[in-house]
Parts: sequence; C-alpha cells; structure tokens
Amino acid sequence: MGEIKLPEGFVTYPEARKKAFLTLKKMKEEGRRIVGVFCTYTPWELIDAADAAAVVLCGIGDENMPAAEKRLPKNLCPLIKASYGGAVADRCPFFYFSDMVLGETTCDGKKKMYELMSELKHTHVMQLPPGQFGRGALEFWKASVESLKDDLEQFYGITITNDRLREAIHLRNRERKAILDFYEIGCLKPSPISGYELNTVITSNEYAFDINKKIEALEQRIRELKDLYEREYKGKKSRPRILITGCPTHGVINKVIKRIEELGADVVGFENCCGPREKKDPIDETIDPITAIAEKYLRVNCSVMSPNPGRFKALGEQIHDYQADGVIEVLLQACHTFAVESDSVRRFVTEEKGIPYLSITTDYSTTDQGQIDTRIGAFIELLS
Ligand code: SF4
Ligand code: SF4
Repeated sequence: MGEIKLPEGFVTYPEARKKAFLTLKKMKEEGRRIVGVFCTYTPWELIDAADAAAVVLCGIGDENMPAAEKRLPKNLCPLIKASYGGAVADRCPFFYFSDMVLGETTCDGKKKMYELMSELKHTHVMQLPPGQFGRGALEFWKASVESLKDDLEQFYGITITNDRLREAIHLRNRERKAILDFYEIGCLKPSPISGYELNTVITSNEYAFDINKKIEALEQRIRELKDLYEREYKGKKSRPRILITGCPTHGVINKVIKRIEELGADVVGFENCCGPREKKDPIDETIDPITAIAEKYLRVNCSVMSPNPGRFKALGEQIHDYQADGVIEVLLQACHTFAVESDSVRRFVTEEKGIPYLSITTDYSTTDQGQIDTRIGAFIELLS
C-alpha cells in the first residue's frame, strides 16, 4: 500500500464542509446574501457583483438517497440525487442558508430536478444552448446571463453595475490564475503533491468565501511545493502518473482518487470539473462585461455540449503537459452524456495518444469498493 503524503493540518473535504456550515451561519446572521450554485457554467462574477456569496450545493454521500428517491428515479446520477435529497430532507445546511438557488439546463436529470427544487426555494435556471457553435448559441446564452442579472437585481432589490462586474471579473481572473498554478504543480515529475490533496483543496476552496485570502493561501502552498520538489523529489523515480477525466469527482474522492494513490500510482491532474477545465480560460477584461461573461462560460467543455471537441483538445494537452502514463475516466451512474462520450475518449486516449485507459462507473455508495480496487490495481500493474 502506498502512503499519501499530506501537509500538516490538512483538512479533508467533509471537514471543510463542516467548517463552512458555521461560517455560513455567521454570514447569514450578519445579513450576507447567499446564492446556492451547482455547476461550472455558473457565472460567479454576477453573484460577486450582487455582493452575494456563492455556495456550492452539489451533494456527496449516500445518506440522503432515500429522501431523494421519493421523487426521483433510483437510476439517476448520484450527484443529482444527493443534492436534491439533502435539500428536500432539510439536511443540507448550504441549501438551508441559501436565499436562492442558481441552476443551468445542463443534463436532463439536473434540469428536471431543478423543477422539483423550485418547490422548496426560489430557483433561477439559466437556459444553456445544447451546443457551443450553433447559430444563435451565444446570443441565446447571453440572454440567459442578462436574465440572471435581472433576477438577482429584482430578488435582492439592487442594481448590478458594469463597474462592479469588471471588478468581480478581475478578481476571479486572479483566482483562476492561482488555481491553475496550483494544479500545474502536478506537471512536475515526480509530483510533489498528491491528487488527493489537489482534489480536496480545490473542492474545499469553494467554501472559502474570501477570494483574496484564498489566492494568498494557494500562492503560499505553491511556493512550499516548488521548494519541496527541489529538495526532495527532483531527479527521483516517478510512480505511474494518472490523469482523471469524466464526471466531477468530489463525491468519490476517497473511493477512487485516494485509492488510486494508496494502490501505488500518482493522480497528477484532472480533466473534469474538479480540474483546470475553466480555470485555463480567463474572462476578457477589455470588452462589455456581460458579453465577456457569456463568451467565457459558453466555452466550458462539458459533455452536455454537442458536439464537444474542446474536451478532446484539452485532454490531449493535459496528457502531454502532465506527462500522464494512463487515463482513468470516472463515470457517475446514469450520467448519459459522459457515458456516451466515453468510447470516443477511450479511442482518443489509446489510439491517438497511445496510453492505457480505464473507465470506472460508480455511485456514492461503498458497495463496489472491492471491485473498484481490483480494477485500479490491475490498471496500475499494467502501467508499472
Ligand atoms: S460536468 Fe458539466 S454539468 Fe456537471 S458540473 Fe461540470 S460543467 Fe456542470
Ligand atoms: S455528472 Fe452527469 S448526470 Fe450527473 S449532474 Fe453532471 S452531467 Fe448530469
């Protein structure tokens, strides 16, 4: 069994969430505005410009599945069920503290779930076009961005100015750069940071509401890791290097990411929504802010977009930059868009890039842990 090296005082994702409950409670008592969000298509800058804090509502764990399954089908993506289950059972403090919810019409399961969620709380659903390139796609999405701005203004009785939007864009671009630099520590060979830490820090950071402090903490950790690499890692032999792709992995950090490393490989990067997918692409600070926001988020390479060529380009670049020896695709059960795209991903990775590929379909239960371990173990042996 490999040992995962973690920094002193390391905070796990569930611990970070628990800590965030208290922070949010305090923020709520102080009268702060709070908007619950889900997806990488979320235009954070509009929420920032409304002087609201954005809190991620994506559920983890399977304890809220029975509550969710009273209204949702059993064979639905666990992320959707865990999110709705926590809200409807009144067991998600993030949902509880949110004034309103922001969703997007991404996959079918999520967009239909938002209809049920809107029975519980004011839910604004942004309409996404089904593809990035179709005629009128940008105009359609830009109208959705404008409609969110209108709704935030009406809901809170405020005006969101262009100046405030520009400030928010500038700050979020700085944050993107810091997050990207942190991810890119994984390009070093051997990697001085575990993928478990990378995945945990970035997802936990979604619960850090002071963006300037978050940037400082990331910059500090990047300096430490570069120093650690020079002192202890440079020139040493690397373990097999794995790039993760597919569905978001924050709900399976222990089950998949941590296990890959315990079983003898390094998770060096993520080509999914827990990775640099949207961080690599700053918002244009020179044009009209609403247009810039619309253009930026429409470029997110998610499988809900059809076609989705940008994902393959990003995957190819990451295989190269992170010096990946193999790719593991994590598919959440009943996620049709990623599941359908996975055969093209397998062919791209094995035939065009010439490295091994493994796909793991799973949910948030622990019943398949043994089977997952066996498959990961065999894959790592193949790479060793
Ligand atoms: S995978 Fe797609 S739908 Fe899911 S969070 Fe990411 S961008 Fe949103
Ligand atoms: S993982 Fe797939 S099914 Fe689940 S919410 Fe994201 S896009 Fe939808």
